[in-house]
Amino acid sequence: MKRLILLGPPGCGKGTQASKVAAAQGIIAISSGNMFRDAIRTGAAVGLEAQRYMEAGNLVPDAITIRLVTERLEQPDCAGGFLLDGFPRTLPQAQALGEAVAIEGVLEIKCRDETIISRLAGRRVHPGSGRVYHVKHNPPRREGLDDITGEPLEQRDDDLPETIAKRLQVYAEQTSPLTSYYAAGGPGMPTHYEVDGDRDIAQVSADLLAALS
Ligand code: AMP
Repeated sequence: MKRLILLGPPGCGKGTQASKVAAAQGIIAISSGNMFRDAIRTGAAVGLEAQRYMEAGNLVPDAITIRLVTERLEQPDCAGGFLLDGFPRTLPQAQALGEAVAIEGVLEIKCRDETIISRLAGRRVHPGSGRVYHVKHNPPRREGLDDITGEPLEQRDDDLPETIAKRLQVYAEQTSPLTSYYAAGGPGMPTHYEVDGDRDIAQVSADLLAALS
């Protein structure tokens, strides 16, 4: 399968698993969150629109997000397949995506709230590449520095405790309905797989790849 969605709450390991699964499948990983963060860094108009929603732990409005991602999927590097990380996050996004491209598989990572909170609090990112680390579960080789470039790692603004609670609430209200939407299946709908995300990184990767094989 070459056109895939990775679904799951913030902190379930989507970013970490997206790069592993995409590399194994020979496809590109596309993260809507990374696209927004890049746009903020470069001062692009869409970044200015998105920033206040992101900082508050809210979703960026559908119209902005759908345009950003569907235009990205038209780029030549997506022709061989892609894995979407963090999109769709609402039913209108899922419907718009389904109209734009034929998605083949949805990989859903399930995770308990306690796991999510500890993972987000310990998460560190390399802003330039989007590479993700965890101070305990997936530390960089040198503390606080990216393995590839040696540049400093950062904590995301929205990984602070007060914003984490808001993001979990937003997930429960707006994104969790996508589970039953995809689980219902039907003609033209992708196959839906569920994987237990409460285990270590290698076990979750193995399950995701097994689902696809
Ligand atoms: P992420 O890196 O996937 O956790 O996304 C970080 C933030 O970017 C989210 O909390 C939202 O504010 C915004 N964002 C990313 N993807 C979407 C999406 N599909 N729909 C709406 N907002 C999004």
